[in-house]
Amino acid sequence: MGELLSYACERPLPAGTLVRVPLGAREVLGVVWDADEAPGGLPEGTALRPVAGVLEGLAPLDLPWRRLVAFAARYYQRALGEVALAALPAHLRGLRPEQFARRLRRPTPPADAAAHTVQQSVALTTEQASACARIASEPGPFLLFGSTGSGKTEVYLRCVQEMLQADPTAQALVLVPEINLTPQLEERFAARFGASAVVPLHSGMTGPQRLRSWLAAHSGAARIVLGTRMAVFASLPGLKFIVVDEEHDPSYKQQEGARYSARDLAIWRGREQGAKVLLGSATPSLESWHASRPPTPEDPGGGRYARLHMPSRIGAGALPRVRRVDMSQQPRHAVLSVPLLAAITERVARGEQCMVLLNRRGYAPVLHCADCDWKSDCPHCSAHQVFHKTDRSLRCHHCGHTVRVPRHCPRCGSPDIRPMGRGTEQLEEQLCSLLSEVLRPDRTPVRIARIDADTTRAKGALEQQFAQVHSGAVDVLVGTQMIAKGHDFRRITLVAAVQPDGALFSSDFRAPERLFALLMQAGGRAGRDAVYMAAQGTQCEMWVQSFCPRHAVFETLRTHDYPAFAAQQLRERAQAAMPPFSHLALVRADARTQEVAQGFLSAASAAAHAAALPGLERVTLFPPVPLAIQRVANVERAQMLLESPRRAALQHFLLAWKSVLQATRHDPAHKGLIRWLVDVDPLEI
Ligand code: ADP
Ligand code: ZN
Ligand code: ZN
Repeated sequence: MGELLSYACERPLPAGTLVRVPLGAREVLGVVWDADEAPGGLPEGTALRPVAGVLEGLAPLDLPWRRLVAFAARYYQRALGEVALAALPAHLRGLRPEQFARRLRRPTPPADAAAHTVQQSVALTTEQASACARIASEPGPFLLFGSTGSGKTEVYLRCVQEMLQADPTAQALVLVPEINLTPQLEERFAARFGASAVVPLHSGMTGPQRLRSWLAAHSGAARIVLGTRMAVFASLPGLKFIVVDEEHDPSYKQQEGARYSARDLAIWRGREQGAKVLLGSATPSLESWHASRPPTPEDPGGGRYARLHMPSRIGAGALPRVRRVDMSQQPRHAVLSVPLLAAITERVARGEQCMVLLNRRGYAPVLHCADCDWKSDCPHCSAHQVFHKTDRSLRCHHCGHTVRVPRHCPRCGSPDIRPMGRGTEQLEEQLCSLLSEVLRPDRTPVRIARIDADTTRAKGALEQQFAQVHSGAVDVLVGTQMIAKGHDFRRITLVAAVQPDGALFSSDFRAPERLFALLMQAGGRAGRDAVYMAAQGTQCEMWVQSFCPRHAVFETLRTHDYPAFAAQQLRERAQAAMPPFSHLALVRADARTQEVAQGFLSAASAAAHAAALPGLERVTLFPPVPLAIQRVANVERAQMLLESPRRAALQHFLLAWKSVLQATRHDPAHKGLIRWLVDVDPLEI
């Protein structure tokens, strides 16, 4: 591997043991790695520095864990040590052996009591029962394709429950996209299995909290780990079952350091460690959808995954009726079309809740001078500074650069500077004024609230604001995609997307897929309580305002027809040789100038061809291009796309190319290069 370091130790230490070792002048955490991968041929008599200490009392990290880390490092082109350390709780890095020993003496919850079911489970529906039966009898992996409210969570709970009961040492890993946005899932697992059996693992926890969960998982005391993408690396010696909820969610892809996909690693880990893997979604990623295609005469093998379908919603009314408004027929610059405003007014007057989605925070994306055409550009980025009215600031959402809103145009002095376009702040303001005369059934004024990254910055703010909506203290909720996720609001009967068109013209080929998933998920917030809907005598609605209402995304949304949407998108992907019909990697370069960034990429590409690297015959290297947002914080960014019909060929090539990239980086011709990185299976291109 060439990345392993050797140390002397007076007794043999099993692989997976955690140790403290000297590194230069520092002492750092290390993991004893497998001897067969140790650097061979140390010269006779080499003086090795001794291991400084062993973290006693901790079972070594097992072979499946070490293999997972080694695979992730290799596949995502990172150093083994970097991935191994990132996979361990950060708090562990700072503890000396004696501190660790004290930490271990603190009581952890007992490992038995944990397995029993606390809350009685419900009787499964036919669809749920048949999904569970297939999961029990087939090897998987499984894709559970179920509408919002079809009872997917109940299937997860039941499968985990059966597995835990059958095997007293078995453990389950449940991955969720963002724990804050789906608090109810954690509650449901804790209610079903008892709080001590379930441990959370996510970045919102403090270092000591995370270490505590990690130790509980590693020792087997925790039967269920419920966490975000980082939890895919948890040490789980008894792992038998992995759930990836909302498997299509982009947050499963780590976008820094080792850019891994937790969903893809979950599939790999499940296969290696003999754990069943269950992916769930109402709008699966096209990769998973394609991988679960049923066999046909032309394609007798079908996909690698088993697809389970649960089309019916439980306890909820029908999916919302989708209403499209052609914005080209509406007054120019209208935020809310006339019919949408009328519909919202009518609903809140009846005491129902509405949700209005606009995926852009701030008041307006740019401030503009009518006299000289000045725009509020960020001085450090190729992007506008966003106008925030609440604190009268102009803020760059890329580098954070913030200034006060000028009174006059900084260029020509004109007082005629105005916001252009709109964000959630403005939408909230306009709704407040448009609905100011409307009264609720109890003759009180309509209450409007906004939830986005700006309103939820303070700790606990997010939970508190969602609790307000749940309690019924809000009639109209305005927000970004944050409000579209897993929340189970009971009285929402209308959901509106006011400006979804941007994604249709994005250069990113996955933008329509993300938009469709977002709109389906948002629509799924409406009419969740059939009893309430019946009492109101109403039907729920999803409104879409668009300049191209006939677009395939909206046509298929209208009929809630994910399979039709997927089929249409997959045809386009096949024609364009895009994933899942090809495999991609990106090489990014950051430099002081765009020339240097692109120069480095071109040189690395030329060097690959000159050396005729293995795999190259099946890999296409495209020319370097600037990123869509080319400059951020005064750093110029460029990227180069690699495409191959074969994953193995791409991997083979990348492995061989690594040293070429490293050598190219040290060529003085590329002075000014700040960094380069490889993103395998990139999510955004
Ligand atoms: P999903 O995860 O697919 O959105 P959930 O599992 O949250 O769906 O189920 C939706 C609602 O239906 C929840 O309120 C849940 O408690 C209820 N539910 C699920 N399964 C059953 C069942 N078998 N019988 C009765 N209610 C159920
Ligand atoms: Zn001006
Ligand atoms: Zn900036």
